[in-house]
Amino acid sequence: MTPEIIAKIFPNELPSIEEIEKKYPPRALQPGQKVTRVAPSPTGFMHVGSLYAALVSERAAHQSGGVFYLRVEDTDQKRKVEGAVEVICKSLARYGIVADEGVNENNQDYGPYAPYTQSERKEIYQAYAKKLLTEGLAYPCFCGAEELDLMRKIQEKQGQRPGYYGKYAHCRPLTDAQILENLNAGKPWILRFKSMGDNNKRMLIKDLLKGDVNMPENDLDIVILKSDGLPTYHFAHAVDDHLMGTTHVLRGDEWLSSVPLHIQLFVALGWKAPKYGHIAPLQKSDNGNKRKLSKRYDPEANITYFWEKGYPETALIEYLLNLINASFEDWRRTNPDKDAFDFPLNFNKVSNSAGALFDFQKLNSISKEVIARMTADEVYQALSAWAKTYNPAFADRLSANRDYYLHILNIERNIGKKSRKDFIKWSDIEADTAYFFDDTFTRDLESFAKEINLSVEELKAVAAEFKAVYRAEDDKNTWFEKIKVIAEKHGFASDMKSYRETPEKFKGSISDISNVLRIFITGRTQSPDLHAIMQVMGTNRVLSRLEA
Ligand code: GLU
Ligand code: ZN
Repeated sequence: MTPEIIAKIFPNELPSIEEIEKKYPPRALQPGQKVTRVAPSPTGFMHVGSLYAALVSERAAHQSGGVFYLRVEDTDQKRKVEGAVEVICKSLARYGIVADEGVNENNQDYGPYAPYTQSERKEIYQAYAKKLLTEGLAYPCFCGAEELDLMRKIQEKQGQRPGYYGKYAHCRPLTDAQILENLNAGKPWILRFKSMGDNNKRMLIKDLLKGDVNMPENDLDIVILKSDGLPTYHFAHAVDDHLMGTTHVLRGDEWLSSVPLHIQLFVALGWKAPKYGHIAPLQKSDNGNKRKLSKRYDPEANITYFWEKGYPETALIEYLLNLINASFEDWRRTNPDKDAFDFPLNFNKVSNSAGALFDFQKLNSISKEVIARMTADEVYQALSAWAKTYNPAFADRLSANRDYYLHILNIERNIGKKSRKDFIKWSDIEADTAYFFDDTFTRDLESFAKEINLSVEELKAVAAEFKAVYRAEDDKNTWFEKIKVIAEKHGFASDMKSYRETPEKFKGSISDISNVLRIFITGRTQSPDLHAIMQVMGTNRVLSRLEA
């Protein structure tokens, strides 16, 4: 390429390569330290898969004592959305994922490799594109959208692989004179990479998460600079991950097939390529077929879904850690008090490297455990914070009845293995605790009476008898003895053993009578410890409920 052509393509002065490399020197790393990044596009939408990739990357870096940074990939200006960086920063912060360098929620850069927003690095990409052009490793392409379209149709018709390669790379053989002529005629151009690959040759890629993958070499002359002067993802990836010193690129596996191209770009630029690890997408079963969780069709693809439902942040983090390393659960059992971020992720033992279904049952069971480990005060705080945004009326109730709720939430809490595990997520708790308040308490004595084969009158008699002997100061044993007496009086077995041995001798068992009281007090047949519930409700409320 002649200096004249280069000057026409890059008429403005660009920083020199020396200047750039001096400004962004290699990082001083100790052996084993990893540098990773999360590189979302600011679309205003945070996919749960992006959180997953961010978590894996953050863990890889920080576990090694290295650096984890955030880069905003906004080279596709059409997809850019106002306020999107804030969404990214807030989402990461919410899950305790802290970038050592990057952009904060006010769009301010922090860290030595700034700017961390690609659109602000235009001149840097252009400087390297110019270098490739000068070295004959890139060339201008003047093909318009129509020509490319036509080419694609021909390829399709002839059963050829699509893309700009070989004889389809129209502008690759243009002479300097032809290029100059096009430029002088004011023809719009883009820059393409001059691939040195051969599609008939294969290469072995050692993927950190997928293992060895065999792939054909790249022979596509892909676009490196677009008509708006901004780079494509591929080119920006090579330039930025080199300059910012990324050692391990951990990203979604839609990029796996681009690795041969990326390695070529690194070679052409004279750089060492980073190590790659490709993360399998979270999937969903759709009529028996597995497919990626989709932003278009699946509300749970959006991270805000988990906020609305009120899953504790730790629950989602633990779920994702468990997806990468199935050993997480064992670790959690032996380390119930540790922070999830203390779990040593093992990148050599990745579970689900082929992709896992997003399993809500599993998430729910993890979430129950997470909530069970919290103190009543922590639950109250988190619940109130959630309700302020997602259920303001409930937030008001929570704050107006703070002490009462603290006692409600404390029932069967933090008592070891038998701690209650019935709360899954914050959005369930209003309904789960509604019976503690008279205005939201409901019960259906008739259907319950049918269920256990007693008349409503008998139920009322049981309640009245219990009311007569109820004393708030009774400990659980005394309280229970009183229920046994009533059970026997009504022909119910007062202990489960004799009931199991000779059920025909009884109308039912002590548990039926407990349930009668449970229905009167809570309106339900299942509840946490009834003695504790009565204690928390207070004598007046208990007596009025027993009154029927
Ligand atoms: N901006 C790319 C994406 O959102 C980042 C992929 C990467 O981590 O390199 O898919
Ligand atoms: Zn062309």
